[in-house]
Amino acid sequence: MNRPKKTEFKFPTHVDEYPTGPQYAAGYLPETNAGWRTVRPVVDYDACVFCLRCYLLCPDGTIMKENGKIEFDMDYCKGCGVCAHECPKDAIKMVKE
Ligand code: SF4
Ligand code: SF4
Repeated sequence: MNRPKKTEFKFPTHVDEYPTGPQYAAGYLPETNAGWRTVRPVVDYDACVFCLRCYLLCPDGTIMKENGKIEFDMDYCKGCGVCAHECPKDAIKMVKE
């Protein structure tokens, strides 16, 4: 049986090394947030280096690239905190609604 060759996991160091991009553009979800989100992401633009890790990993495609900055579509953000957890510069804080 031909099995895929095992490779050692290496943490991506550049956006080109990520295997996939966002699955959907913002606005794909059929319903907007109905008020159940308890925390929201807030970005510190002084700390952000625009590496786009958050953009690639947001499960809802809620993060957009706008004029060299990231922006959040709060109609669709569910407040999961993945973006804040994965930001290598700790540039995203989750704050209470
Ligand atoms: S992961 Fe952090 S540093 Fe990278 S674009 Fe997002 S907020 Fe900026
Ligand atoms: S909190 Fe979750 S849904 Fe909202 S922008 Fe961050 S990763 Fe995406």
